[in-house]
Parts: sequence; structure tokens; C-alpha cells
Amino acid sequence: MDATHPAHNVVIVGAGQAGGTLAGLLRQQKFAGRMVLCAAEPVPPYHRPPLSKKFGAEDFLQWLRPESFYRDNDIELRLDDPVTRVNRLARTVSTASGADFPYAYLVLATGASPRTLPVAGNDLQGVLGLRTLTDARVLRESVLAGARLAIVGGGYVGLEVAAAARAHGCSVTVIEREDRVLARVASPELSRILTEFHTARGTRIIAGAEVAELLGAAGRIRGVRLTDTTEIDCDLVVVGIGAIPADGLARAADIHCRSGIVVDELARTSDPHILAIGDVTQRLHATLGRLVRLESIPSAVEQAKQAAAVIMGTPVPAHEVPWFWSDQFDLKMKMAGIYDPATAAVLRGDPDTGAFSLFHLTPEGVALSVETVNAAADFMAGKKFIGTRAQLDRGALADPGTALRDVALDGPSTPVAAGARPHTRRI
Ligand SMILES: Cc1cc2nc3c(=O)[nH]c(=O)nc-3n(C[C@H](O)[C@H](O)[C@H](O)COP(=O)(O)OP(=O)(O)OC[C@H]3O[C@@H](n4cnc5c(N)ncnc54)[C@H](O)[C@@H]3O)c2cc1C
Repeated sequence: MDATHPAHNVVIVGAGQAGGTLAGLLRQQKFAGRMVLCAAEPVPPYHRPPLSKKFGAEDFLQWLRPESFYRDNDIELRLDDPVTRVNRLARTVSTASGADFPYAYLVLATGASPRTLPVAGNDLQGVLGLRTLTDARVLRESVLAGARLAIVGGGYVGLEVAAAARAHGCSVTVIEREDRVLARVASPELSRILTEFHTARGTRIIAGAEVAELLGAAGRIRGVRLTDTTEIDCDLVVVGIGAIPADGLARAADIHCRSGIVVDELARTSDPHILAIGDVTQRLHATLGRLVRLESIPSAVEQAKQAAAVIMGTPVPAHEVPWFWSDQFDLKMKMAGIYDPATAAVLRGDPDTGAFSLFHLTPEGVALSVETVNAAADFMAGKKFIGTRAQLDRGALADPGTALRDVALDGPSTPVAAGARPHTRRI
């Protein structure tokens, strides 16, 4: 398209990480058309990672961009006015306040909503799913007041909340349905090490436990009852059992969805005028070669770059190896790739020192994922190994005395991180 043509309107639905990033990228790349950024929340885009890690700190609210950025860059930021309908025939969207906006490109960046716990008492006051600034403010107040926390779900968000709440001296119990924390996303080795780490710092972790009921008194949470009848007293329940893609608008508009909006490796949906980015997507991932729903900042930013390339007609950005991070106590964790239980772990470093890495290798010695703790150099090398599918020497990898540049058997093979390529459609 001719990006300098004013008739080319872009409407972005969802002013979160993905939508906010795309708006900035488009103006940086000199998109000269009209741009409307529709927000359901009453505030401009902000960073979500601090909500579970730094909610006890004064500076936990971090804006993606200063508020003046939207004005200065002629981005029409419509706060507190969710889009209620997409009219694909007329190519317009309607908002709750009754406004209509035409689009040449529509970008759906509606994120995901916390999954609710399907048990009695889930509507009690003090039962919280952590996604928004409002949720984090409730959590902050409770923790600063010394609340006893029950966290349902031992995923990354649950463990981050546990660590931050313990650091403020709160009593914390983590209840996990699977037989280990992080069962969906991390290796058993990392789960075991983190369980020991949290337990040693006073968090009670109950794995293999199912919540039967949330118990209330005068409409407020007072405890959690498990199916084995164990009762845990608490003043706040944080439910961290995953998120559901907010694909309702897309489904109502008959856009291809499968537990998320299905997009190709350029963020294109089944409608050529509609793109989708961020947590709401089931994306065709070039390095993995299959559909995945990634919920991470790097993935949202990568897809924002893809959408910008489509809108601006510029070359396709290089594929990126999926990665994300988590901070728990003084552990700075960075993970790359996607853990596959068919791989075997190679430990580099010593968990007792607080700095180590787990490389997960196929029988041929190819790393599919890496989990690093306070080991930034291992993360960088591991991410590169995954991208190049280098074959690694297990013994050398396990020996911290061998430099990481010397652990590949015969140098990089089959590079998958390609540079600029033509736009090809693959849904
Ligand atoms: C507590 C927490 C901690 C996290 N920590 C990390 C981390 O450490 N590292 C990491 O990589 N990732 C982390 N993540 C994940 C990361 O924040 C998400 O992957 C990222 O925010 C996804 O961006 P998004 O724009 O797709 O969704 P969001 O940021 O959720 O934004 C979607 C926005 O769309 C809005 N919206 C929905 N429907 C409509 C509508 N109809 N009209 C208008 N607006 C609408 C929503 O209100 C929301 O503001 C964390 C997430 C949470 C919740």
C-alpha cells in the first residue's frame, strides 16, 4: 500500500503490549495515514511483567510510552471504549460508545483474559485473576497489609507473586493441580530446583492438589478447601491457572479461530484486511513449524514487527526463537525455545550457587530449549544454538570450564533464522 496516502486508515483493537508496540512502530516507519488505537482499559498501554514481580514496589506501574507520545504522534488513543463489533463487509469497527471507524487494515490485539476457577466461591471478594493494573493494585494493597495468600496455579505468574509476597513477609501457599509446579512450561529439573528454592524461603507448595471450593464469610474469601478436605486459611486468593485468548470479536466476525485467532507467520488472519498479534493469536511459528499460542512480550513485539511490515509493504523481519523471562527472589531466569519432554537435560553450572543452565537436547545433540538462571551468557548462546540447530557436545556443554563457543560439534548447521524474504501466505 502507499503508506503516505491519508485514506489508509489503520485501526488497532487493544492497547496492550502488542497494540501499543505496533502503533509506535508504524509512526517510526513513517506511516502517514490515520491511526486509531482502541483501549478497553481506562489507561494507556503499560508493561504487565511488573504486575506480578514488583507490585510491592512504588514504581510497579511502567508505561509503554509517555502519555504525550500518542498526542505527539497523532495516534487517536480511545481509552475505556472497547470495540464491540467488526463489520467486515463495510470495513468498519464500532465501539461501546457508539463510534464507528473505517479501516484499510484492522489489527486485533485483544490479548487474553485470566481463566477463572470453576468452583463455588469464585465470585467472592478477594479472589483475583492477575492481568490488569486494577488487579495489581488490589494485590499490592493486600500484600502491604500483610494478607495471607493462597495462590492457585504454580505457573510463572503464580511463583512470581509468591516470591514477591514472601519478600514482604506474607504467608504464602501455592496450590498446584499437576504433580509439579511449572508442569506445562518448564522441565522437571527446573520445577524441582524452584520448588526447593521457594520452600526454603517459606512458601508452602502443595502439588497434585485440586481446589474443591473457595470458602467465604460475609461475601469475602476466608479459605480454600481442597478435594482431600484440607483447608487453607487465607485473606486473598490469586488465581493463576492460565489465560483464554480474547478472540470473541474475531469469532463473531467469522474469522478463522482455533482457541485463538489463527495467523500465518506474518500475522495475517483469514481476512486479507485483518491482522492479529499478541496473546490472542494461534501463530504459525517458522522455527517450530506448527501453530502455537505464545504468551510473552518478545512474541507480541515480534508479531507487531510482522504486522508493521505487512502494512508498510516492507521486507519480512527475520524469525525469532521464542523466549521469555521470569524474576523470582534474586533469580533472574531467561528461557528460550519450547520445552519438549522428549529431550534430555544437560546441566551447566551448579544450582546451589544460584547460577546455572539447563540445555534440553535431542538424541542427536540439538538444543530445542534452554532454561537459564542468573546466566545471561548461557541464555544468549543457547538461543543461538536453538536458532541454528547446532549439534552440541554434551560433555563440553556440562563443563563450565569449556567456553560455549567451543561446544558445537561442527559449527552451526541448518540455519532457520532467515533474513528478509518475500511475503508468502500460509494459513
Ligand atoms: C502478571 C503478568 C506477568 C507477565 N510477565 C511476563 C514476563 O515476565 N515476561 C514475558 O515475556 N511476558 C510476561 N507476561 C505476558 C505478557 O504480558 C503478554 O504476553 C503481553 O502483554 C501480550 O500482549 P497483548 O497486547 O497481546 O495483550 P495485552 O497486553 O493483554 O493487551 C490486550 C489489551 O486489549 C484490550 N482489549 C481486549 N478486548 C478489547 C476490545 N474489544 N476493545 C478494545 N480493547 C480490548 C485489553 O483490555 C488489553 O488492554 C506477563 C503477563 C501477566 C498478566
